[in-house]
Amino acid sequence: MTTAYELRCRECGKSYGNQPLSICDDCFSPLEVDFDLDYARSRFTRDKISAGPLNMWRYRALLPVSDTYKPTTPAVLTPLLEAPRLASRIGANNLYIKNDAVCLPTLSFKDRVVAVALANAQAFGFDTVGCSSTGNLANAVAAGAARLGLKTYILVPSDLEAAKILNTQVYGANLIRIDGNYDHCNRLCSQIAERYNWGFVNVNLRPYYAEGSKTVGYEIAEQLGWRLPDNVVVPMAGGSLITKIRKAFKELVALGLVDDKPVRFFGAQATGCSPISTAVKNGADNIEPQRPNTIARSLAIGNPADGSYAIRVIRDSGGWAEDVSDVEIVSAIQELAETEGVFTETAGGVTTAVTARLYAHGRIKPDELTVSCITGNGLKTTDVLQGAYSQEAAVRPRLSDFAAYLEEREDRLAGVAYAD
Ligand SMILES: *Cc1c(COP(=O)(O)O)cnc(C)c1O
Ligand SMILES: [Zn+2]
Repeated sequence: MTTAYELRCRECGKSYGNQPLSICDDCFSPLEVDFDLDYARSRFTRDKISAGPLNMWRYRALLPVSDTYKPTTPAVLTPLLEAPRLASRIGANNLYIKNDAVCLPTLSFKDRVVAVALANAQAFGFDTVGCSSTGNLANAVAAGAARLGLKTYILVPSDLEAAKILNTQVYGANLIRIDGNYDHCNRLCSQIAERYNWGFVNVNLRPYYAEGSKTVGYEIAEQLGWRLPDNVVVPMAGGSLITKIRKAFKELVALGLVDDKPVRFFGAQATGCSPISTAVKNGADNIEPQRPNTIARSLAIGNPADGSYAIRVIRDSGGWAEDVSDVEIVSAIQELAETEGVFTETAGGVTTAVTARLYAHGRIKPDELTVSCITGNGLKTTDVLQGAYSQEAAVRPRLSDFAAYLEEREDRLAGVAYAD
């Protein structure tokens, strides 16, 4: 290889150089960015990384951008939190949360993938970019493209949460609601990208986009003091994130930044859209597409592009996949907020509920070092908490009124407890 990276077919290995393309002409399999690890060896070291900026570009030696690329999209490091109070509720003893609900410009992990995709959109000379999205990607593309002055066309299913629509339109993006689900949007985007020569981040730029997810894995390892965890629990939509965290860990091992050890990968889905977890549970190698019906809209992809690869990662690692109901998702959102002060969207409710079940079923042992990936912010899906909390009458601003209110409230709560 003469460059540091290039596109290669995941199945037949045919190489394609660097161009906006995501499917192999010969065998119709997905293309992936393949890095020359020997070239990266002297550039991707613990010392060079810690001397780098405090954002995802500290890992740029293994991201598909040229050496001269100057990042303009801020995508800062996100916290890796110990989660002892959640842990004690669910029978865990060594639980961490990778919190991508905060710090990133549009408050989901999608800012990572978009940063890499837009760098490549610029390199390929596109003046118009877009995506098909279940919400968070729309927000991230709209914000990133605004900063770069690119025109944006974004296609979303018509039933998307109001907050995710507003969070796209505010950046001046052309948001197009499609009378259908994500899979309809995605198919249409492939046709549009070809006809108009636009750069669609998760269509013709998908191989570059997907590499951005590796930064979640690099960060986890670095924040654990250059160690790998025993287990990772990852929400799955298209199934890309889980495969890329694994790719990141493998690269870190190959380049000697961490000691090799087995890491089990656990996938999380909502029962109302669970093509990947269903396949894992049934021992199937391929996806049976589903029609999504869940409040976890950011994960509602019925025909996931990377589904079969996600199944393989989970199975080969000795992990498992689970799915949870909409009711469980809402309780898990509340539980994570009440125990750890982290307010996540429905996808994080899925991950949290699945994590709890994996401990309950003994698939994860209490003392194993486990990282649960929280990927988006709760302020985007407040509709699912509608009616969960009562709005009481206003109290007059006087201490005596407050005291009377407090007494009445405590009696009321005690009464409820007694009635139980
Ligand atoms: C897109 C998304 C995911 C899953 O990403 P895939 O790589 O498509 O599996 C997880 N969580 C949130 C909040 C997302 O928006
Ligand atoms: Zn091929």
